[in-house]
Amino acid sequence: MSRHLAYQRLFAATHELRVGAEFSRFTPDTPSCACCNRRWSEVEAPFQAAEYRYGKSGEPEQVCLTCYTPRIPSERLLGLERYNHTGNTTTPIYGKLGMLVGSGGIITPRNELYLTLPPKLHAKYKKGEWGQQGRLSTDKPLARLLDLLIAGALSAPGERPLEQGFVYIENWGRKADILMRRLLATTSLKEVWCNSEQGVTPLDLQAILETAQVLKTLELTNQADRLVFWKPITDAARGKRDDAAFDAWLGKVPDPRALLMALPTDPFDRLRLPAVLREVMPRLSALEAYLTPAPPQTQRQGSLF
Ligand SMILES: [Zn+2]
Repeated sequence: MSRHLAYQRLFAATHELRVGAEFSRFTPDTPSCACCNRRWSEVEAPFQAAEYRYGKSGEPEQVCLTCYTPRIPSERLLGLERYNHTGNTTTPIYGKLGMLVGSGGIITPRNELYLTLPPKLHAKYKKGEWGQQGRLSTDKPLARLLDLLIAGALSAPGERPLEQGFVYIENWGRKADILMRRLLATTSLKEVWCNSEQGVTPLDLQAILETAQVLKTLELTNQADRLVFWKPITDAARGKRDDAAFDAWLGKVPDPRALLMALPTDPFDRLRLPAVLREVMPRLSALEAYLTPAPPQTQRQGSLF
């Protein structure tokens, strides 16, 4: 997969943000973008830079237009964030992607941007064009991702599922420099790249879907999002394994081997089990198409003869 794909999707999905935006574009005199480090010939708007300064005393840096995009305020697409009062002057501050604290986003293979916002931000921005177009919701980012997956919005018709790649932003936050430094697209549920203001981490959503399926079979659906149920597993993932608690857990699960086999292997994924399962469990039957089919039962085949 091209390392440019996520940037290409973000650039295409935010075209409207740059139309009529007031910032100066110039020909850079550095070898590459100061944020994503890609060469000027490789970025989406080749050999065009914008200047960004971190804080009032920061050195000006030359960044590509894709990396600059989260810095662009938009009255039209989002709306008024707040008024800034300095002395006798009052200046309106408009919303920007790089200031959406606690908000997520998904960019589909059709380069459509969906934003998930906390209720307060949603109330501020719902009248903007993105709000009018149904691009905003108050869902959790992962809930929105699963719903778009179920709706077929993350795979193009006729293509193998997810092959074209989508972008999942777990938290825009306010550190656009870290978010944009390494932005990755997702082409497999085994490795859902969670982009955030803290950097990018993979999530094995496939293994968590399989785990959900096993929990359902074992009639443990109501335990799926309970921290206390997963404690022996999450403690071990943190390197604090408690053998007595783990043995007690094995005794509580009807088929512990099946469950242990389904669990994601990465400790970071295991720590996220309760939170991710909270969103997965209610949607499990709709996600069936993404579950690995059960291996054929040789016993039954034998009984045919
Ligand atoms: Zn860049």
